[in-house]
Amino acid sequence: MLLIRRSHRGVHPPENKNTRGIAIKRLDNFDIISIPLDMQIGPGSTPLVAKGDTVLVGQRIGEPMGGWSVPVHSSVSGIVESVKKEIMSDGDVIEYVTIINDHGYVVSPDVKPPQINNRDDFIAALRDSGLVGLGGAAFPTFVKQNPPPYKDIDLLIINAAECEPYITSDHRIMLDFPDEVIAGCMIAASWLSIKQVIIGVEDNKPDVKKPLEEAIRAYPRRESDTDIEIKIKVLPTLYPTGAEKVLVNKLTGRVVPMGGLPADVGVIVQNVTTIAFISAYMKTGMPLIRKVITLDGSAAAEPGNYDVPVGAHIEDVIEAAGGTRTKPGKIIMGGPMMGTAIDELSRPVLLQTNAILILSEEDAILPKEIACISCGECVRACPMILQPTSLDKAARRLDVDTLDKEYVLNCIECGCCSYVCPSKRYLVQNIVIGKGLVRDAQKRGEVD
Ligand code: SF4
Ligand code: SF4
Repeated sequence: MLLIRRSHRGVHPPENKNTRGIAIKRLDNFDIISIPLDMQIGPGSTPLVAKGDTVLVGQRIGEPMGGWSVPVHSSVSGIVESVKKEIMSDGDVIEYVTIINDHGYVVSPDVKPPQINNRDDFIAALRDSGLVGLGGAAFPTFVKQNPPPYKDIDLLIINAAECEPYITSDHRIMLDFPDEVIAGCMIAASWLSIKQVIIGVEDNKPDVKKPLEEAIRAYPRRESDTDIEIKIKVLPTLYPTGAEKVLVNKLTGRVVPMGGLPADVGVIVQNVTTIAFISAYMKTGMPLIRKVITLDGSAAAEPGNYDVPVGAHIEDVIEAAGGTRTKPGKIIMGGPMMGTAIDELSRPVLLQTNAILILSEEDAILPKEIACISCGECVRACPMILQPTSLDKAARRLDVDTLDKEYVLNCIECGCCSYVCPSKRYLVQNIVIGKGLVRDAQKRGEVD
């Protein structure tokens, strides 16, 4: 187990939290919705609908394929135009259900609050809701909240760090829905028999503490809930505090082992928007069909936080949110550190999409990389105590043994190494390729 503290490593990119003061605006005027049947870590779903079928809001349109899968639901009412497979930019083939929106937003009669009498019911309800980690990881929540019994869980951490530049959707959820955040904490802690909850928030969001504390005081506790303690812990702003393993270390001093999960050190970590959704779902039974996303960037005409149906096309979201003020050079799904550039504007908003960044042509120019000068900046910045420069070189020469021995799979793809590199080396890009090489070698049984 690596025991070096990760707390002080990371970077301070410009925050650009331009949209934190703008209340969430709902957008509904989308004619076509394309919902992928695979938006999670693990196997996706198989279609339950066919061309010509009528679908309603909240109706299940994808049946889980594996033990880790969650169902997929329609975000609009309308007619299924097609169910077909498409090749993604990374070569993956994903099946999509495309729906012509009738703009009636007629809700399925199947949408009802779940009946929950015990922990198993709670876990089953999480699965039925289609909930995955909304911070970007898309790990199925029902799996995360149901660790094996031999893991002794004593702490629920709510990840409210939102450390990536530009993104403010979690911040807005805390400001606009503090009661849902606290109710979600209490519901999850109660069913999972956890007595300690810590909400970890960075000090660039000082305005969330008061509404969250008021919501804690106002929550109508049952007799069985009185010993659940919820604390708000404020952390210095430093990217990537929101990375699960980094957050656990900063809040508790516990070190998640290489290749391990927070549950290995007694912790479940849940994103703050995910936990707020749990509360809303228990009241209404409406599955996860909408997302609040931050839309920003130098070419965005009207930056803000927008509540949109899952499956809305990126180009339509941009249009509905005021369009662009200059020609875009690059559009990124997610933040500037960990997001991915999209290849087609018709790509849809996914369950885990938390931002769309529209960069001007000027801001999209990639710096030219030059030779490594062995300055060590990338090593000092890496929150996972890796050797990015060595991993980069090993990936370029396809050296799987070195990549494996130097724990490339522990890289969280935070991009800190690339950010600090004075030679503008494409470190994280090559390290991601290196991770793929090791995973392929593992499948062939060539490395452990
Ligand atoms: S090697 Fe990975 S974890 Fe370390 S700084 Fe680079 S991207 Fe982040
Ligand atoms: S920061 Fe860049 S130049 Fe410095 S050691 Fe790392 S790769 Fe080399």
